[in-house]
Amino acid sequence: MSVLPIRLWGDPCLREVARPVDTITDEIRTLAQDMADTMYDAPGRGLAAPQVGVSLRMFVMDCQWKDTGEKNPLVVIDPVLSDPEDEMASNEEGCLSIPGVPVLVERPAAVTMRWRTLDGSVVARRLTGFEAICAQHEFDHLEGVMIPDRVDAQTRAAIEGPLAAIGPGA
Ligand code: ZN
Repeated sequence: MSVLPIRLWGDPCLREVARPVDTITDEIRTLAQDMADTMYDAPGRGLAAPQVGVSLRMFVMDCQWKDTGEKNPLVVIDPVLSDPEDEMASNEEGCLSIPGVPVLVERPAAVTMRWRTLDGSVVARRLTGFEAICAQHEFDHLEGVMIPDRVDAQTRAAIEGPLAAIGPGA
């Protein structure tokens, strides 16, 4: 078990467009385990590779564990999102890279995600509820997008101070 340092707002790695994983090696399997350990330690419900300084298209998520106490991490490699629902959902989202600055973000209420698992098989699932929100938040990290980019100008202005206290921003 390894808990990795989490990169914070202002770290350039968080603003890169991450590269595909392609080949699933032992290093990737170890990284997935370490990312899950880091997510649970934080504690959080999702963590993307750029948040631990690795610019690869993978993330881990577990939307239930805080409620059930049962840890069951979903490892998502090279995800593709499609068919966003027209209906939007607003949720207060937090980010482990922007601690203490939750913001209200509006996203499609449901989305289909196709991804590769650690054993290389391709799976697809229609995600709804908090799972849909979490997957879209983590997917954003792979594109270098963070929650302050997803809010209106007024909200953004209101959080500039707390953001600047974490890092220089981008
Ligand atoms: Zn985040």
